[in-house]
Amino acid sequence: MISRRTARGVKVGSVQIGGGAPIVVQSMTNTDTADVEATVAQVISLARAGSEIVRITVNNEEAASAVPRIREQLDARGIHTPLVGDFHFNGHRLLKAHPECAEALAKLRINPGNVGRGSKRDPQFAEMIEVACRYGKPVRIGVNWGSLDQDLLTRLMDENSRQAQPLSALEVMREAIVQSALESAARAETLGMAGDRIVISAKVSGVQDLIAVYRKLAARCDYPLHLGLTEAGMGSKGIVASTAGIGVLLQDGIGDTIRVSLTPEPGGDRTQEVIVAQEILQTMGLRSFTPMVVACPGCGRTTSTYFQELAQKIQSHIRHRMPEWRKTRVGVEEMTVAVMGCVVNGPGESKHANIGISLPGTGEVPVAPVYEDGEKTVTLKGQRIAEEFQDLVERYIERSYRPRGA
Ligand code: SF4
Repeated sequence: MISRRTARGVKVGSVQIGGGAPIVVQSMTNTDTADVEATVAQVISLARAGSEIVRITVNNEEAASAVPRIREQLDARGIHTPLVGDFHFNGHRLLKAHPECAEALAKLRINPGNVGRGSKRDPQFAEMIEVACRYGKPVRIGVNWGSLDQDLLTRLMDENSRQAQPLSALEVMREAIVQSALESAARAETLGMAGDRIVISAKVSGVQDLIAVYRKLAARCDYPLHLGLTEAGMGSKGIVASTAGIGVLLQDGIGDTIRVSLTPEPGGDRTQEVIVAQEILQTMGLRSFTPMVVACPGCGRTTSTYFQELAQKIQSHIRHRMPEWRKTRVGVEEMTVAVMGCVVNGPGESKHANIGISLPGTGEVPVAPVYEDGEKTVTLKGQRIAEEFQDLVERYIERSYRPRGA
């Protein structure tokens, strides 16, 4: 049941979060921000993969002075993806010393647990909000349980221990995360930040914690919510945990922008987090980014790797061609392509797709019928089935999706 998507919209550069806008996909670089060339290159690859907002860490003087050059170089190369600055501990100082950094950013991420300890916390938080207001920038109040405001947590723990029926430590911790976000947002408004310039996130690393915390947030505020697990992990674990947590919340109607925080394998591709985020939204039917390949898992009826190789080839071909198709063909991202391993479900699934192929299983006649819009159009055979099928997909797109601007 989709019951709540935030009515209030926050503009981050040219992108809107909440307020009826499609759920926004975000990512974050892992380059040294001071290394302008590497950061520009990574932002470009994240943007080309489909990241609609990219966050970069601004952790020292060098990073702060690099930000305007990063923005300039991206603009010069036609990449206008909004950049968000991630600030911790020294953000108030950096923003004051580098006003051109504040200007180049489209949003400031402020972690209320890391703006300063004790008596420094409130004035340093106020300084950051004051800079954001001066430059007309929205903020994300981004709480993270790894850096939760300890004063607040201690206060809530003390209050809880005096209750006749105290809550568990876990419940108090969840409440502290929610209160940290909401109190900080309220304080930002008191300091002059407009309510429609605030996005909230409250990241935790456990799926059940994420669901519980965001349900509380959604019930208690109408700021747009940025969803994501923190420290989701590597490989399939990170993907599964993020999908489980984000998926449940999206289905509740909670969440206006998402980031999937995956730890890349050494030398791995940072854009994987963008692709996973898109796939979560697309498989849930919330947005379409790229034609979907429906492939059967294969089984004892597909004894060779031929079928997996073909499914993989078609999927990579579609990803590779998509930037061009998206530019030139209207609605192509809605297309489904079926790649099936045998006659058991192959023809049926292929008929449901826009275009589908049913490969021969073990012991079947070595031919591959192709279905387009539910009708069998051709039967492929021989060594070039993959290439011929890709040509058919290209022709199907040309025929079925009108050129942009036509
Ligand atoms: S379609 Fe055929 S090959 Fe694929 S999983 Fe089903 S029975 Fe196995």
